[in-house]
Amino acid sequence: RKVIVAVVGRPNVGKSTLFNTIAGKQISIVQDTPGVTRDRIYAEGNWLNYYFTMVDTGGIEPISDDVLLKQMRSQAELAIETADVIIFVTDVKSGVVDADYEVAEMLRRSKKPIVLCVNKVDSIKKYGNDIYEFYQLGLGEPFPVSAANHLGLGDLLDEVVKHF
Ligand code: GDP
Ligand code: MG
Repeated sequence: RKVIVAVVGRPNVGKSTLFNTIAGKQISIVQDTPGVTRDRIYAEGNWLNYYFTMVDTGGIEPISDDVLLKQMRSQAELAIETADVIIFVTDVKSGVVDADYEVAEMLRRSKKPIVLCVNKVDSIKKYGNDIYEFYQLGLGEPFPVSAANHLGLGDLLDEVVKHF
């Protein structure tokens, strides 16, 4: 069977944008409203000669921090159960937030291969120094990406397929 790569992270960090960029088409809904991915969405992706099935996860719009955390926990649990490699997406513009630590801890404990993506790095010159704080998540090297501008995807995917 094909390798399954799941994309997890807080609402609005750019999971669906990254998913669509890697899939090469618009499959998942991208919106300014957080949490518009209604359910799991699947697409085929490939990098070099590696083929995989990608899963975009999301949820309904969280009404409170409690609901957000609950949703993120179940999202992470699902990814841990079903995925072979997990891309954990964070946002350089918001920096590391509490919910990131919480999910990072779950992912770390799972012993699954995790690739840490720091999205919205639209300019390395401008935001390059801001990626270092993401080492605090304890998930190793953060990979700066701009999903919207197709930057940094090669290095990210090189790291993903290393775990195949
Ligand atoms: P999701 O909720 O994690 O699936 O996030 P979405 O993919 O729906 O994106 C949320 C918002 O972030 C949208 O307004 C996107 O246009 C924006 N976004 C996504 N990727 C980038 C990026 O690389 N740079 C910037 N500046 N914005 C981005
Ligand atoms: Mg989404």
